[in-house]
Amino acid sequence: MTDRPADDICPKRDETPVPTTIPFSTPIYLTSVWECETPHQAERLLTGELPGYVYQRDGHPNADTLVHTCRALHRTEHAVATSSGMSALAAILLAYTQHGDHMVISSRLYGKSLYLLGREAQRLGVSCDLVDTTCLEAVREGLRPETKLVVVETIANPTLEIADIAGLSNLLSSHAARLVVDNTFATPALCQPLSQGADLVMESASKMMNGHSDAMVGIVASREGGGDWERVGQVMSAYGLTSSPFDCWLVARGLSTMHLRVRRASENAQAAAEYLQQQPRVKRVLYPGLSDDPQHALAARTLSGGFGSVLTMELAGSRAEADRFIGAAGAPPFCPSLGETATTVSHPATTSHRGLSVEERRELGISDAMIRISCGIESAGHVIEMLDAGLSQL
Ligand SMILES: *Cc1c(COP(=O)(O)O)cnc(C)c1O
Repeated sequence: MTDRPADDICPKRDETPVPTTIPFSTPIYLTSVWECETPHQAERLLTGELPGYVYQRDGHPNADTLVHTCRALHRTEHAVATSSGMSALAAILLAYTQHGDHMVISSRLYGKSLYLLGREAQRLGVSCDLVDTTCLEAVREGLRPETKLVVVETIANPTLEIADIAGLSNLLSSHAARLVVDNTFATPALCQPLSQGADLVMESASKMMNGHSDAMVGIVASREGGGDWERVGQVMSAYGLTSSPFDCWLVARGLSTMHLRVRRASENAQAAAEYLQQQPRVKRVLYPGLSDDPQHALAARTLSGGFGSVLTMELAGSRAEADRFIGAAGAPPFCPSLGETATTVSHPATTSHRGLSVEERRELGISDAMIRISCGIESAGHVIEMLDAGLSQL
Protein backbone atom coordinates (compact mmCIF):
# COMPACT_ATOMS: atom_id res chain seq x y z
CA MET A 1 0.00 0.00 0.00
CA THR A 2 1.18 3.50 -0.70
CA ASP A 3 0.20 6.82 0.77
CA ARG A 4 1.61 8.81 -2.17
CA PRO A 5 -0.77 11.27 -3.81
CA ALA A 6 -2.47 9.99 -6.99
CA ASP A 7 -0.39 12.35 -9.16
CA ASP A 8 2.82 10.62 -8.10
CA ILE A 9 1.76 7.05 -8.71
CA CYS A 10 3.21 5.55 -11.88
CA PRO A 11 1.32 2.32 -12.52
CA LYS A 12 3.73 1.18 -15.20
CA ARG A 13 6.74 1.20 -12.90
CA ASP A 14 4.99 0.18 -9.69
CA GLU A 15 2.84 -2.67 -10.83
CA THR A 16 4.43 -4.47 -13.76
CA PRO A 17 4.91 -7.99 -12.41
CA VAL A 18 8.14 -9.79 -13.14
CA PRO A 19 6.99 -13.34 -13.98
CA THR A 20 8.90 -16.28 -12.59
CA THR A 21 7.65 -18.62 -15.35
CA ILE A 22 8.16 -18.14 -19.08
CA PRO A 23 5.05 -17.28 -21.16
CA PHE A 24 4.48 -20.02 -23.74
CA SER A 25 3.08 -17.53 -26.27
CA THR A 26 5.33 -14.52 -26.84
CA PRO A 27 3.73 -11.42 -25.24
CA ILE A 28 3.28 -8.30 -27.32
CA TYR A 29 5.90 -5.85 -26.13
CA LEU A 30 4.17 -2.51 -26.57
CA THR A 31 6.88 -0.33 -25.15
CA SER A 32 8.72 2.31 -27.12
CA VAL A 33 11.54 2.55 -24.58
CA TRP A 34 13.27 0.26 -22.09
CA GLU A 35 14.66 1.24 -18.70
CA CYS A 36 18.43 0.89 -18.52
CA GLU A 37 20.45 0.21 -15.36
CA THR A 38 23.34 2.58 -15.91
CA PRO A 39 24.61 4.97 -18.60
CA HIS A 40 27.43 2.47 -19.20
CA GLN A 41 24.89 -0.29 -19.88
CA ALA A 42 22.82 2.00 -22.13
CA GLU A 43 25.93 2.85 -24.13
CA ARG A 44 26.83 -0.81 -24.62
CA LEU A 45 23.24 -1.70 -25.57
CA LEU A 46 23.08 1.13 -28.11
CA THR A 47 26.37 0.21 -29.77
CA GLY A 48 25.25 -3.41 -29.98
CA GLU A 49 28.02 -4.59 -27.67
CA LEU A 50 25.36 -6.02 -25.34
CA PRO A 51 22.22 -7.75 -26.63
CA GLY A 52 19.03 -6.07 -25.49
CA TYR A 53 16.64 -3.23 -26.16
CA VAL A 54 16.62 0.51 -25.54
CA TYR A 55 14.34 2.09 -28.13
CA GLN A 56 11.74 0.37 -30.29
CA ARG A 57 12.97 1.91 -33.56
CA ASP A 58 16.30 0.12 -33.02
CA GLY A 59 14.77 -3.27 -32.28
CA HIS A 60 12.19 -5.03 -30.16
CA PRO A 61 11.46 -8.59 -28.96
CA ASN A 62 8.49 -9.22 -31.30
CA ALA A 63 10.66 -8.44 -34.35
CA ASP A 64 13.35 -10.75 -32.99
CA THR A 65 10.86 -13.58 -32.39
CA LEU A 66 9.57 -13.25 -35.96
CA VAL A 67 13.01 -12.92 -37.48
CA HIS A 68 14.23 -15.98 -35.57
CA THR A 69 11.67 -18.04 -37.54
CA CYS A 70 12.52 -16.33 -40.84
CA ARG A 71 16.23 -17.05 -40.37
CA ALA A 72 15.42 -20.71 -39.91
CA LEU A 73 13.11 -20.73 -42.95
CA HIS A 74 15.74 -19.09 -45.17
CA ARG A 75 18.60 -21.01 -43.56
CA THR A 76 20.68 -17.94 -42.79
CA GLU A 77 21.91 -16.03 -39.76
CA HIS A 78 21.03 -12.65 -41.26
CA ALA A 79 17.47 -11.34 -41.42
CA VAL A 80 15.46 -8.31 -40.31
CA ALA A 81 11.78 -7.37 -40.11
CA THR A 82 10.64 -4.01 -41.50
CA SER A 83 7.33 -2.10 -41.44
CA SER A 84 6.12 -3.41 -44.84
CA GLY A 85 7.26 -5.17 -47.99
CA MET A 86 8.01 -1.78 -49.52
CA SER A 87 10.22 -0.74 -46.62
CA ALA A 88 12.07 -4.06 -46.98
CA LEU A 89 12.87 -3.17 -50.59
CA ALA A 90 13.65 0.43 -49.60
CA ALA A 91 16.10 -0.84 -46.96
CA ILE A 92 17.89 -2.90 -49.63
CA LEU A 93 18.01 0.06 -52.03
CA LEU A 94 19.32 2.46 -49.37
CA ALA A 95 21.85 0.05 -47.88
CA TYR A 96 23.28 -1.45 -51.06
CA THR A 97 23.34 1.43 -53.56
CA GLN A 98 24.56 4.98 -53.76
CA HIS A 99 24.63 7.85 -56.23
CA GLY A 100 25.99 6.69 -59.58
CA ASP A 101 25.04 3.03 -59.17
CA HIS A 102 22.86 1.08 -61.56
CA MET A 103 20.31 -1.73 -61.23
CA VAL A 104 18.83 -4.28 -63.61
CA ILE A 105 15.25 -4.98 -62.61
CA SER A 106 12.54 -7.24 -63.94
CA SER A 107 9.98 -5.37 -66.00
CA ARG A 108 7.36 -7.51 -64.23
CA LEU A 109 8.07 -6.37 -60.68
CA TYR A 110 5.21 -5.39 -58.38
CA GLY A 111 3.94 -1.93 -59.44
CA LYS A 112 5.15 -0.06 -56.35
CA SER A 113 8.53 -1.80 -56.60
CA LEU A 114 8.89 -0.51 -60.17
CA TYR A 115 8.05 2.97 -58.91
CA LEU A 116 10.52 2.77 -56.00
CA LEU A 117 13.41 1.29 -57.98
CA GLY A 118 12.60 3.33 -61.07
CA ARG A 119 11.52 6.83 -60.18
CA GLU A 120 12.40 7.25 -56.51
CA ALA A 121 15.82 5.64 -56.92
CA GLN A 122 16.51 7.94 -59.87
CA ARG A 123 16.04 10.94 -57.59
CA LEU A 124 18.82 9.48 -55.43
CA GLY A 125 21.04 9.15 -58.49
CA VAL A 126 20.60 5.38 -58.84
CA SER A 127 19.52 4.39 -62.35
CA CYS A 128 17.93 1.20 -63.57
CA ASP A 129 17.07 -0.72 -66.70
CA LEU A 130 13.86 -2.73 -66.98
CA VAL A 131 14.57 -6.11 -68.51
CA ASP A 132 12.69 -9.32 -69.26
CA THR A 133 14.64 -11.21 -66.60
CA THR A 134 13.26 -14.58 -67.74
CA CYS A 135 15.77 -14.14 -70.60
CA LEU A 136 19.25 -14.59 -69.08
CA GLU A 137 20.87 -13.12 -72.18
CA ALA A 138 18.88 -9.88 -71.71
CA VAL A 139 20.09 -9.70 -68.11
CA ARG A 140 23.70 -10.23 -69.22
CA GLU A 141 23.36 -7.44 -71.77
CA GLY A 142 21.88 -5.13 -69.13
CA LEU A 143 24.84 -5.49 -66.73
CA ARG A 144 27.31 -2.62 -66.43
CA PRO A 145 30.40 -2.28 -64.24
CA GLU A 146 28.37 -0.04 -61.90
CA THR A 147 25.40 -2.46 -61.67
CA LYS A 148 24.88 -3.22 -57.97
CA LEU A 149 21.56 -5.04 -57.87
CA VAL A 150 19.59 -7.38 -60.10
CA VAL A 151 16.02 -7.57 -58.82
CA VAL A 152 13.49 -10.27 -59.76
CA GLU A 153 10.40 -11.95 -58.28
CA THR A 154 10.27 -15.72 -57.77
CA ILE A 155 6.74 -15.71 -59.23
CA ALA A 156 5.82 -12.51 -61.06
CA ASN A 157 2.44 -10.80 -60.94
CA PRO A 158 -0.04 -11.31 -62.63
CA THR A 159 1.30 -13.50 -65.42
CA LEU A 160 3.19 -15.75 -62.97
CA GLU A 161 6.54 -16.06 -64.75
CA ILE A 162 9.12 -17.96 -62.72
CA ALA A 163 12.60 -16.55 -62.13
CA ASP A 164 15.52 -18.84 -62.91
CA ILE A 165 17.24 -18.03 -59.62
CA ALA A 166 20.02 -20.58 -60.05
CA GLY A 167 20.64 -19.44 -63.64
CA LEU A 168 20.76 -15.77 -62.65
CA SER A 169 23.06 -16.53 -59.74
CA ASN A 170 25.36 -18.42 -62.08
CA LEU A 171 25.33 -15.53 -64.53
CA LEU A 172 26.26 -13.08 -61.76
CA SER A 173 29.07 -15.24 -60.37
CA SER A 174 31.56 -13.23 -62.41
CA HIS A 175 29.96 -9.87 -61.61
CA ALA A 176 29.79 -7.82 -58.41
CA ALA A 177 26.02 -7.22 -58.72
CA ARG A 178 23.88 -8.88 -56.07
CA LEU A 179 20.83 -10.94 -56.91
CA VAL A 180 17.75 -9.76 -54.98
CA VAL A 181 14.64 -11.97 -55.07
CA ASP A 182 11.18 -10.79 -54.03
CA ASN A 183 9.77 -14.09 -52.77
CA THR A 184 6.34 -12.77 -51.72
CA PHE A 185 4.22 -14.93 -54.04
CA ALA A 186 6.18 -18.13 -53.40
CA THR A 187 6.76 -17.66 -49.63
CA PRO A 188 9.62 -19.51 -47.87
CA ALA A 189 7.27 -22.51 -47.67
CA LEU A 190 7.78 -23.16 -51.40
CA CYS A 191 11.10 -21.49 -52.16
CA GLN A 192 14.24 -20.44 -50.30
CA PRO A 193 16.02 -18.25 -52.86
CA LEU A 194 19.21 -17.94 -50.77
CA SER A 195 19.70 -21.72 -51.08
CA GLN A 196 19.44 -21.37 -54.87
CA GLY A 197 22.12 -18.70 -55.07
CA ALA A 198 20.33 -15.39 -54.41
CA ASP A 199 22.28 -12.89 -52.30
CA LEU A 200 19.25 -11.22 -50.76
CA VAL A 201 15.63 -12.22 -50.41
CA MET A 202 12.76 -9.97 -49.42
CA GLU A 203 9.13 -10.70 -48.75
CA SER A 204 5.97 -8.81 -48.04
CA ALA A 205 4.84 -10.81 -45.02
CA SER A 206 1.59 -8.83 -45.29
CA LYS A 207 0.41 -11.44 -47.82
CA MET A 208 0.56 -15.24 -47.58
CA MET A 209 3.19 -15.43 -44.83
CA ASN A 210 0.82 -13.75 -42.39
CA GLY A 211 -2.17 -15.06 -44.29
CA HIS A 212 -4.96 -13.21 -42.47
CA SER A 213 -4.91 -9.76 -44.11
CA ASP A 214 -4.52 -7.94 -40.82
CA ALA A 215 -0.87 -6.89 -40.57
CA MET A 216 1.92 -5.27 -42.58
CA VAL A 217 5.50 -6.47 -42.23
CA GLY A 218 8.45 -6.92 -44.58
CA ILE A 219 11.33 -9.38 -44.30
CA VAL A 220 14.86 -9.02 -45.66
CA ALA A 221 17.31 -11.91 -45.40
CA SER A 222 20.87 -12.13 -46.64
CA ARG A 223 23.18 -15.01 -47.41
CA GLU A 224 26.16 -13.06 -46.10
CA GLY A 225 26.63 -10.85 -43.07
CA GLY A 226 29.06 -7.96 -42.62
CA GLY A 227 29.84 -5.23 -45.13
CA ASP A 228 26.78 -3.67 -46.71
CA TRP A 229 24.46 -5.93 -44.68
CA GLU A 230 25.55 -4.04 -41.53
CA ARG A 231 24.09 -0.92 -43.10
CA VAL A 232 20.60 -2.46 -43.38
CA GLY A 233 20.01 -2.06 -39.64
CA GLN A 234 21.43 1.48 -39.67
CA VAL A 235 19.25 2.48 -42.62
CA MET A 236 16.15 1.01 -40.95
CA SER A 237 16.76 3.02 -37.81
CA ALA A 238 17.68 6.25 -39.63
CA TYR A 239 14.81 6.19 -42.12
CA GLY A 240 12.36 4.77 -39.59
CA LEU A 241 11.60 1.56 -41.51
CA THR A 242 11.22 -0.54 -38.36
CA SER A 243 8.32 -2.95 -37.83
CA SER A 244 5.63 -2.61 -35.17
CA PRO A 245 5.49 -5.10 -32.27
CA PHE A 246 1.81 -5.88 -32.81
CA ASP A 247 2.21 -6.56 -36.52
CA CYS A 248 5.28 -8.72 -35.90
CA TRP A 249 3.31 -10.64 -33.29
CA LEU A 250 0.47 -11.26 -35.76
CA VAL A 251 2.86 -12.36 -38.52
CA ALA A 252 4.76 -14.68 -36.15
CA ARG A 253 1.41 -16.25 -35.32
CA GLY A 254 0.46 -16.48 -39.02
CA LEU A 255 3.81 -18.09 -39.85
CA SER A 256 3.10 -20.97 -37.50
CA THR A 257 0.41 -22.18 -39.94
CA MET A 258 2.07 -20.99 -43.17
CA HIS A 259 3.09 -24.43 -44.38
CA LEU A 260 -0.42 -25.85 -43.96
CA ARG A 261 -2.08 -22.83 -45.59
CA VAL A 262 0.34 -22.65 -48.52
CA ARG A 263 0.00 -26.36 -49.22
CA ARG A 264 -3.80 -26.23 -49.17
CA ALA A 265 -4.03 -23.01 -51.19
CA SER A 266 -1.59 -24.38 -53.79
CA GLU A 267 -3.68 -27.55 -54.12
CA ASN A 268 -6.73 -25.37 -54.61
CA ALA A 269 -4.94 -23.25 -57.22
CA GLN A 270 -3.92 -26.40 -59.10
CA ALA A 271 -7.50 -27.72 -59.03
CA ALA A 272 -8.90 -24.32 -60.06
CA ALA A 273 -6.41 -24.02 -62.95
CA GLU A 274 -7.29 -27.48 -64.26
CA TYR A 275 -11.00 -26.71 -63.96
CA LEU A 276 -10.73 -23.32 -65.69
CA GLN A 277 -8.75 -24.83 -68.56
CA GLN A 278 -11.87 -26.84 -69.42
CA GLN A 279 -14.22 -23.85 -69.47
CA PRO A 280 -15.26 -22.44 -72.86
CA ARG A 281 -15.68 -18.91 -71.42
CA VAL A 282 -12.04 -18.90 -70.34
CA LYS A 283 -9.56 -18.09 -73.09
CA ARG A 284 -6.33 -18.73 -71.23
CA VAL A 285 -5.17 -19.97 -67.82
CA LEU A 286 -1.78 -19.02 -66.45
CA TYR A 287 -0.44 -21.24 -63.68
CA PRO A 288 3.08 -22.69 -63.41
CA GLY A 289 1.63 -25.91 -62.00
CA LEU A 290 -0.07 -26.78 -65.30
CA SER A 291 1.93 -29.43 -67.11
CA ASP A 292 1.63 -27.53 -70.41
CA ASP A 293 2.82 -24.23 -68.90
CA PRO A 294 6.00 -23.23 -70.79
CA GLN A 295 7.84 -22.73 -67.49
CA HIS A 296 6.51 -25.83 -65.75
CA ALA A 297 9.89 -27.60 -65.62
CA LEU A 298 11.66 -24.50 -64.29
CA ALA A 299 8.86 -24.01 -61.74
CA ALA A 300 9.26 -27.61 -60.58
CA ARG A 301 13.00 -27.01 -60.03
CA THR A 302 12.50 -23.65 -58.32
CA LEU A 303 9.49 -24.41 -56.11
CA SER A 304 8.93 -27.42 -53.90
CA GLY A 305 5.68 -28.52 -52.31
CA GLY A 306 3.34 -26.69 -54.69
CA PHE A 307 3.19 -24.03 -57.38
CA GLY A 308 1.70 -21.22 -55.33
CA SER A 309 -1.72 -19.97 -54.38
CA VAL A 310 -2.19 -17.52 -57.26
CA LEU A 311 -3.41 -18.23 -60.78
CA THR A 312 -4.58 -15.92 -63.54
CA MET A 313 -7.23 -16.41 -66.18
CA GLU A 314 -8.11 -14.44 -69.25
CA LEU A 315 -11.82 -14.52 -69.99
CA ALA A 316 -13.06 -14.79 -73.54
CA GLY A 317 -14.17 -11.19 -74.16
CA SER A 318 -13.11 -7.87 -72.71
CA ARG A 319 -13.58 -5.55 -69.74
CA ALA A 320 -17.37 -6.11 -69.74
CA GLU A 321 -16.87 -9.84 -69.11
CA ALA A 322 -14.41 -9.13 -66.30
CA ASP A 323 -16.92 -6.73 -64.71
CA ARG A 324 -19.70 -9.32 -64.96
CA PHE A 325 -17.55 -12.06 -63.44
CA ILE A 326 -16.53 -9.82 -60.54
CA GLY A 327 -20.08 -8.57 -59.95
CA ALA A 328 -21.63 -12.05 -59.94
CA ALA A 329 -23.39 -13.22 -56.79
CA GLY A 330 -21.43 -16.05 -55.21
CA ALA A 331 -18.16 -15.22 -57.02
CA PRO A 332 -15.06 -14.70 -54.83
CA PRO A 333 -14.78 -11.21 -53.29
CA PHE A 334 -12.90 -8.60 -55.33
CA CYS A 335 -9.95 -7.72 -53.05
CA PRO A 336 -6.87 -6.38 -54.85
CA SER A 337 -4.38 -8.21 -52.63
CA LEU A 338 -3.50 -11.87 -52.11
CA GLY A 339 -2.70 -14.52 -49.56
CA GLU A 340 -5.92 -14.56 -47.54
CA THR A 341 -7.52 -17.63 -45.94
CA ALA A 342 -10.47 -16.90 -48.28
CA THR A 343 -10.29 -17.03 -52.07
CA THR A 344 -10.29 -13.54 -53.59
CA VAL A 345 -9.95 -12.08 -57.07
CA SER A 346 -8.28 -9.00 -58.47
CA HIS A 347 -8.45 -7.15 -61.78
CA PRO A 348 -4.85 -6.20 -62.68
CA ALA A 349 -5.75 -3.71 -65.44
CA THR A 350 -7.64 -1.43 -63.01
CA THR A 351 -5.66 -2.10 -59.81
CA SER A 352 -2.03 -3.29 -59.67
CA HIS A 353 -1.22 -2.30 -63.27
CA ARG A 354 -3.47 0.75 -63.72
CA GLY A 355 -0.37 3.00 -63.86
CA LEU A 356 0.72 1.46 -67.17
CA SER A 357 -0.53 2.47 -70.60
CA VAL A 358 -2.68 0.03 -72.59
CA GLU A 359 0.36 -0.56 -74.80
CA GLU A 360 2.64 -1.29 -71.82
CA ARG A 361 0.06 -3.68 -70.40
CA ARG A 362 -0.20 -5.42 -73.75
CA GLU A 363 3.58 -5.90 -73.80
CA LEU A 364 3.36 -7.60 -70.40
CA GLY A 365 0.48 -9.78 -71.61
CA ILE A 366 -2.10 -8.10 -69.33
CA SER A 367 -5.54 -7.62 -70.87
CA ASP A 368 -8.77 -6.03 -69.60
CA ALA A 369 -10.37 -9.48 -69.52
CA MET A 370 -7.74 -10.82 -67.13
CA ILE A 371 -8.60 -11.83 -63.58
CA ARG A 372 -6.10 -12.89 -60.97
CA ILE A 373 -7.29 -15.42 -58.44
CA SER A 374 -5.70 -15.80 -55.03
CA CYS A 375 -6.81 -19.17 -53.67
CA GLY A 376 -7.69 -19.51 -50.03
CA ILE A 377 -7.88 -22.58 -47.86
CA GLU A 378 -11.52 -23.54 -48.41
CA SER A 379 -12.29 -26.94 -49.92
CA ALA A 380 -11.33 -27.17 -53.61
CA GLY A 381 -14.97 -27.90 -54.38
CA HIS A 382 -16.07 -24.60 -52.87
CA VAL A 383 -13.38 -22.65 -54.74
CA ILE A 384 -14.60 -24.15 -58.00
CA GLU A 385 -18.22 -23.41 -57.07
CA MET A 386 -17.34 -19.74 -56.57
CA LEU A 387 -15.50 -19.55 -59.91
CA ASP A 388 -18.42 -21.28 -61.57
CA ALA A 389 -20.80 -18.67 -60.08
CA GLY A 390 -18.74 -15.96 -61.76
CA LEU A 391 -18.46 -17.75 -65.11
CA SER A 392 -22.20 -18.47 -65.21
CA GLN A 393 -22.85 -14.71 -65.54
CA LEU A 394 -20.86 -14.33 -68.77
C1 LIG B 1 2.48 -6.58 -51.70
C2 LIG B 1 3.78 -6.77 -52.37
C3 LIG B 1 4.88 -5.94 -52.08
C4 LIG B 1 4.77 -4.79 -51.10
O1 LIG B 1 4.51 -5.23 -49.82
P1 LIG B 1 3.69 -4.37 -48.74
O2 LIG B 1 3.77 -5.21 -47.53
O3 LIG B 1 2.33 -4.17 -49.28
O4 LIG B 1 4.43 -3.08 -48.61
C5 LIG B 1 6.08 -6.18 -52.73
N1 LIG B 1 6.20 -7.17 -53.63
C6 LIG B 1 5.16 -7.98 -53.94
C7 LIG B 1 5.37 -9.06 -54.95
C8 LIG B 1 3.92 -7.81 -53.34
O5 LIG B 1 2.90 -8.61 -53.67
